[in-house]
Amino acid sequence: MRITVVGGGVIGLLTAIECVRAAGVDAVDLVDAGPIPSPSATSNDRLRVVRALHRREPALTRAAAQAHAGWMDVEDQVGSRFYHPAGALTAMPVQDAAAELAVLTAAGAKAWTLSPDELAGRYPRIRFPDGTGAVLEATAGVVLADHALVALARWLSRRPEVRLHPHKRVVEISQNDQGALIRCADGGTHTADRVVMAAGPWSRELVPAAISSDLTLYRQTVLSYRAPKWFRDSTGMPAVLGLGPARDAWLMPTVPQSDAPLRLSAASACRPVDEMTDRVTPDQWRAHLVDVFSELFPDFDPAAVVDSTDGFYLAERTRGGPMLATYGAGTVLAYAACGGMSFKFAPQIARAIADRAVGAPPRPTGLDSVDRPRHLAAVGEE
Ligand SMILES: Cc1cc2nc3c(=O)[nH]c(=O)nc-3n(C[C@H](O)[C@H](O)[C@H](O)COP(=O)(O)OP(=O)(O)OC[C@H]3O[C@@H](n4cnc5c(N)ncnc54)[C@H](O)[C@@H]3O)c2cc1C
Repeated sequence: MRITVVGGGVIGLLTAIECVRAAGVDAVDLVDAGPIPSPSATSNDRLRVVRALHRREPALTRAAAQAHAGWMDVEDQVGSRFYHPAGALTAMPVQDAAAELAVLTAAGAKAWTLSPDELAGRYPRIRFPDGTGAVLEATAGVVLADHALVALARWLSRRPEVRLHPHKRVVEISQNDQGALIRCADGGTHTADRVVMAAGPWSRELVPAAISSDLTLYRQTVLSYRAPKWFRDSTGMPAVLGLGPARDAWLMPTVPQSDAPLRLSAASACRPVDEMTDRVTPDQWRAHLVDVFSELFPDFDPAAVVDSTDGFYLAERTRGGPMLATYGAGTVLAYAACGGMSFKFAPQIARAIADRAVGAPPRPTGLDSVDRPRHLAAVGEE
């Protein structure tokens, strides 16, 4: 069987690896519009958080509780280290913490609660609203995303059954007598028994209209903040979520022994947009996050904001998360929407997509929109 993967972000790279590992696959081609990995991929950032707890969403929490082990397995598979199990702290009203902890620990995560006093004692430089407690997950952390992508691409480049095709922009994926047909912007064509499309926020250009009309594009601003001395001195600082009165702000820690900046953002800095333009942050969104974090860190210094960037992702319009779809009589598997948390789930999602591509029973991810993909009978039909 010949499988072609379109898109060399985290989903495409890991799916290609899973296809190589599957029985009965003779050739895996990975095509990307840019270099592999591409600097413009959504996945190609400094850090991505892996954490299980999603408040009031037990099914999502149970699914995410597998992500920590998933990333450790990926490290073993490719023989490289890029996952830092620094933990994740989620702030919340103290009365909610015990119930959230129960869901997490039942899902197999290692975690405990912190009282308001413990929280204030451990993190005196962060301002928490009165009555805030927290759940601290030990089985959580951050992936050095850019390092991970390089390691995944390197592993693939060493496999004899894999061919990498950088700088080839796919303009059309269709079905023909031999399976799936890919047409590239340079006029070249390529056939495969199955095509997996994982083009991140660009996937709207490649999927049928019946799917693209159900996708919303989001743009999110993230600040890079020079870590203050208190932060650099605190050992094992976890990712911190649930900050602020709206409980929607977060910080990603620096990696130990690194002077890389902290990453700061909030759900309020994520907005729907019509088009992907550049990644330059508009002044108003930078100012918005400076306002948010000035409230959260009593000694916040706007001059220590060393950079800001905008990233894009597509989400399924009604549920807001990822979307997997199949069409072309099952020859095309399209990861049409990656949503805002596909990085952590990528090892699980890639396994499930590869299983479907090779015709094996798909291993469940716990994500409904991946475990029950949308089927289009034919392009142009629902
Ligand atoms: C600011 C921000 C913070 C985030 N934080 C987290 C987090 O902490 N944890 C988490 O789990 N998730 C997070 N996410 C979401 C996560 O980063 C994405 O869901 C994930 O990286 C998407 O990966 P992907 O492989 O689907 O797409 P991408 O990484 O975007 O890869 C798509 C690839 O397809 C290629 N491509 C596009 N069009 C074509 C074409 N026509 N032909 C050939 N190749 C093409 C591109 O060049 C690119 O390499 C965040 C997202 C943003 C924007």
